Amino acid sequence: MIRFDAVSKDYSDGFAALNRVDFNIDPGEMVFLTGHSGAGKSTLLKLIMLMERPSSGQITVDGKALDQLSSGQIPYYRRNVGVVFQNHQLLNDRSVFDNVALPLQVAGSSPYEIGRRVRAALDKVGLLHKEHQLPITLSGGEQQRVGIARAVVNKPALLLADEPTGNLDPELSTEIMSLFREFNDVGVTVLIASHDLELLKQMNKRVLALSHGKIIHDGVLW
Ligand code: ADP
Ligand code: ADP
Repeated sequence: MIRFDAVSKDYSDGFAALNRVDFNIDPGEMVFLTGHSGAGKSTLLKLIMLMERPSSGQITVDGKALDQLSSGQIPYYRRNVGVVFQNHQLLNDRSVFDNVALPLQVAGSSPYEIGRRVRAALDKVGLLHKEHQLPITLSGGEQQRVGIARAVVNKPALLLADEPTGNLDPELSTEIMSLFREFNDVGVTVLIASHDLELLKQMNKRVLALSHGKIIHDGVLW
């Protein structure tokens, strides 16, 4: 599902944020990305989201070489990749429903389709009863669940998350991770950046550890 071949990323100042990174993630895997602050985790995720381009090397996602995508194909590619951020980036002047509906509106779905899919996504994260509320009236854990509903509303094959539990206490973090695991259980490939080692041990999944732009560990933590 995701393949990196000798991928390097130098930002304009010549600093190598990623240095010849190789890995392969199979469809249906759930994998964590960890490492110190500045190790390159966000850069790696941004390359998959096409928010950054590699300086060298090849990235393949779902069988497609990303450097071969035409500008017309990029929106379709992005629809198949759900993204969850630490600060969830919700619009506070729109209801929970409208926040989750955004990716479908961008994709031009019909109002009927939007209603059906938004309610299905909110139901999966347990927030159907809060669809009319503004995000600001929800707890931190609930806001993150709205962020997850928005990321999965297009039914992406791949779900990426950058420190999705960074602002949550351990109990809520475990809850959010269970939610990611449920999506993984129904076949979604999941890649989550997290520096929370306790949480990673608890999840008992494959961990890719980055240090100074290189992969220094690939496997379950013990
Ligand atoms: P992490 O997510 O593991 O904290 P990042 O991928 O954010 O790491 O950063 C990796 C390195 O790249 C850091 O040294 C960071 O300062 C640098 N970096 C990240 N984004 C940029 C940018 N837009 N311009 C220049 N340097 C950047
Ligand atoms: P948590 O302990 O998970 O952070 P909170 O104590 O913040 O939860 O919120 C508990 C419940 O109260 C949540 O269901 C949330 O929707 C509701 N709530 C929190 N703040 C407000 C508010 N300002 N207005 C209305 N409901 C709120």
